[in-house]
Amino acid sequence: MRFLPVFLDVTQGTVGLIGSGPAALAKLRLLQAAGAKVRWYIEEFNTDEFTGDVQSGLLDICCADPSGADFSDLIAIVCTAGGARDTAIAARAREYRVPINVVDRPELSSFIFPAIIDRGDVVVAVGTGGASPVLARRLRERIEALLPARIGDFAALMGRFRTRVAHRQSGKLSLRRFWETVIDGPIGVAALAGRWHWAEAALSRASTHPERSHRQCGSVVLVGAGPGDADLLTLRALQALQAADVVLYDELVSAEILDRARRDAKRIFVGKRSGQPGVAQDVINQRLAEAARQGLNVVRLKGGDPFIFGRGGEELEYLRQAEVEVVVVPGITAALGCAAEAGLPLTFRDEASAIAFVTAHHAGNQIRTDWSKFADPAMTVVVYMGLHHAADIGNQLIAAGRDAGTPAAVLLRGTRPDALYRVGRLDGLAELAAEVGEGPGLLVVGSTVARSDAWRALVGGGMRAEVAA
Ligand code: SAH
Repeated sequence: MRFLPVFLDVTQGTVGLIGSGPAALAKLRLLQAAGAKVRWYIEEFNTDEFTGDVQSGLLDICCADPSGADFSDLIAIVCTAGGARDTAIAARAREYRVPINVVDRPELSSFIFPAIIDRGDVVVAVGTGGASPVLARRLRERIEALLPARIGDFAALMGRFRTRVAHRQSGKLSLRRFWETVIDGPIGVAALAGRWHWAEAALSRASTHPERSHRQCGSVVLVGAGPGDADLLTLRALQALQAADVVLYDELVSAEILDRARRDAKRIFVGKRSGQPGVAQDVINQRLAEAARQGLNVVRLKGGDPFIFGRGGEELEYLRQAEVEVVVVPGITAALGCAAEAGLPLTFRDEASAIAFVTAHHAGNQIRTDWSKFADPAMTVVVYMGLHHAADIGNQLIAAGRDAGTPAAVLLRGTRPDALYRVGRLDGLAELAAEVGEGPGLLVVGSTVARSDAWRALVGGGMRAEVAA
């Protein structure tokens, strides 16, 4: 490690900037964003270079030649001049014992700029010792994806309570434990989900009575896992999985997604395996509440979105009643994931102006859906859990007034490696469903099915007559 990462308070003095053009402007913006007053040595000053975000109050333009200038009052120098002048300027900075960064010349620099992830009070700096700024930027992108957007505001919230807590807590260890509990527990979960009111009130209570350990109270995050492809998890879902002590998941959650949970998180299957009865909903509810009461960070992981045919609403209500802190993280529902992958627009200007997500499954397995509500030819109907009832659904939609020739699709295991898509006509829906076999699948009925990739392939393959006759 040649360069020691430190965080410099640039509001303490003036920073010299040498050079012009986009590289100098980028550094000017960065320095000003950190509150620095900048003396910009620039030969030809061109106001066109200024964009709205340059703060003139923090800027002092200097036309003197920097190779002969007085650097004695500067706290740092950034040089983007380039060419032979760099060496002379670096030497002069050394004479004045002012730290200098020469852009892209680590050998002339006494400090370098890391790639920065800026979340307000939380800043992560990535450096490669000047060896590969591009690699540093790539690493920054990855870390950027992992860091919750609100982490800086959360740090600021904790900062506001720091002194109060320090006065009430005795002992360094208990102080550390206190903050670990805040960060890892429901207060952290609520803050990162933007529930500031709750988080602040809870932190205020905890800081007034630190002896009442709130570790006893964990939290539940209802997380939508998306339709199957692990890359379709939201960033927040990934963050929740990384923070989980225990994950209760159901049958739609793929192994690949489960793999993204914290390595030592306990994984509990609470879904249905074919031929076997699933775990009853009230048992799942109780387990969630019990785990949270043990002080654990619980993730309830569900396929798609928790609030779309996922019984997430019932779990939320139970946990609210049980006074357990709950946060909901949305997921990409099967309809959206499958449609995107199949190149099937669910709406289309002047053609499909409404979408209905319908379930064919009801308690007691009786279809009681009133299909006449879906007769509008401008409506795309997506049926969940409908594979086994495809014949009945097709007939009822036709009886309700949908044209028997309306394009229809069956999308099986969408976004997974073994996905299978079939397209045809509404009056052939049962055959399509029979063709694809078993697995989670959707029925889609509506004119835009004819715009899907599968339909185009079929038409392109000379099978137009079969599909659209
Ligand atoms: N909450 C989930 C739906 C749960 S109901 C969501 O928002 O997607 C279960 C039904 O979802 C399955 O019977 C099937 O109709 C549908 N489904 C889930 N994942 C699917 C996938 N990858 N491909 C096609 N359909 C899927």
